[in-house]
Amino acid sequence: MRAFDAIVVGAGPAGSTAARELAAAGARTLVVERAAWPRYKACGGGIPLRAERMLAFPIDGVVEASVSRIEVSAGGGAAFAKRSPRGPFARMVMRDRFDALLAEHAERAGAELRTGTQVRGLDLDGRVRIRADGFEAEAETLICADGAHSPVGRMAGLGAGIAECAAWEVELRGRPRARGVAEATALIDFGYEPRGYAWLFPKAERLSIGIVLPRERAGDMKALVERYRARLGLADAETAIARGHKIRLRRGGEPIAGERTALAGDAAGLADEFTEEGISYAIHSGRLAARAALRALGGDGDLRRYQASVEAEIQPELTAARIIACMFYGVLRRAPGPWLFAAERTPFLWSSLFAVQRGESSYAREAQRTGPLAAVAAAVLRRRDARERAAALPRRRARP
Ligand SMILES: Cc1cc2nc3c(=O)[nH]c(=O)nc-3n(C[C@H](O)[C@H](O)[C@H](O)COP(=O)(O)OP(=O)(O)OC[C@H]3O[C@@H](n4cnc5c(N)ncnc54)[C@H](O)[C@@H]3O)c2cc1C
Repeated sequence: MRAFDAIVVGAGPAGSTAARELAAAGARTLVVERAAWPRYKACGGGIPLRAERMLAFPIDGVVEASVSRIEVSAGGGAAFAKRSPRGPFARMVMRDRFDALLAEHAERAGAELRTGTQVRGLDLDGRVRIRADGFEAEAETLICADGAHSPVGRMAGLGAGIAECAAWEVELRGRPRARGVAEATALIDFGYEPRGYAWLFPKAERLSIGIVLPRERAGDMKALVERYRARLGLADAETAIARGHKIRLRRGGEPIAGERTALAGDAAGLADEFTEEGISYAIHSGRLAARAALRALGGDGDLRRYQASVEAEIQPELTAARIIACMFYGVLRRAPGPWLFAAERTPFLWSSLFAVQRGESSYAREAQRTGPLAAVAAAVLRRRDARERAAALPRRRARP
């Protein structure tokens, strides 16, 4: 059996970041990836600038467009455009190329990447042992960066109780429309019940169009994307790929680390509830998990410390984004027309959004700036969570 200091399951942004940091520090690191490589991942491929800024290497070679402008509409109603005054707020990538670049940097740092290898069994007695078809390996520590379904995280007994939403992605062949706009533009369409949005993100040769909705509305996603697509005049564009995936949303306290194991990225539910994006948190948590694993390998504590660092460094952002989403959708649902009118005329809203996306502010800071409104939204969410917990109790008790 092959022996390593650390095994990372999953070569997405969380896994490759963790592996790069571990290997660069001298840890013998194995990355095990189920998919044949490079693999497609259902994703808008919008990389906020703050995520790019967390990486130790340039990503220019895989950037398909840099976006400084968004067009906002609600249910097909009048659109307005906003431009980020300080330059692009996001890079647009295709995930197969972006993820391959991150994995390549993990390999260059010394990590071993084994693709086409699905982890099917896990033994946590003593050292960590993983089993795949025809392959076994062991290590001191295990980082499960195995995405929103997190099969290996579940084998490790981690990740229970994390909330979810659903998303659907369609890649269309074709170039972004011109419409007299010189720079690349991201389209965002609100107005879906009870919350969520559709998007169109421009790539070099493709258009990524999709929608994110609460889990209960997953069955409507395809039809809503088709409607949005038709409204944009793209009904006849050739579909290259269409795929759905869930997104997990951690709200604080859920178990994401054990003595020798940690969940990073989507496996830990690290996506925010305002934009539902997760790549920046995947990179951030990959780094935190590697740091905790390196300390554990050096005899300083165990991986449970990782959960504390996520609570301190990432969870406040996820909580603030959830509070902002509560305020935003609360007003939008009550009065979509006036909201759109007011939103267009509230420069603060857009400068805040662009500053967060560029990594020049944070959701926590922007939520604080709304004063008592944030406190009211936080109270609403606490009541909602308490109701949901109470409703879940009889179901849990009823289970044998
Ligand atoms: C439709 C959609 C659109 C999105 N758009 C955006 C966006 O525009 N911007 C943004 O920031 N975020 C977006 N997100 C979220 C983003 O895709 C995730 O947050 C991000 O991919 C998380 O990275 P990760 O490394 O944690 O997991 P992943 O990228 O999902 O990687 C997990 C890897 O683990 C592997 N794996 C799973 N099980 C096993 C196993 N048993 N053995 C071995 N390997 C295994 C998988 O094959 C996969 O490669 C979107 C999500 C969806 C669903």
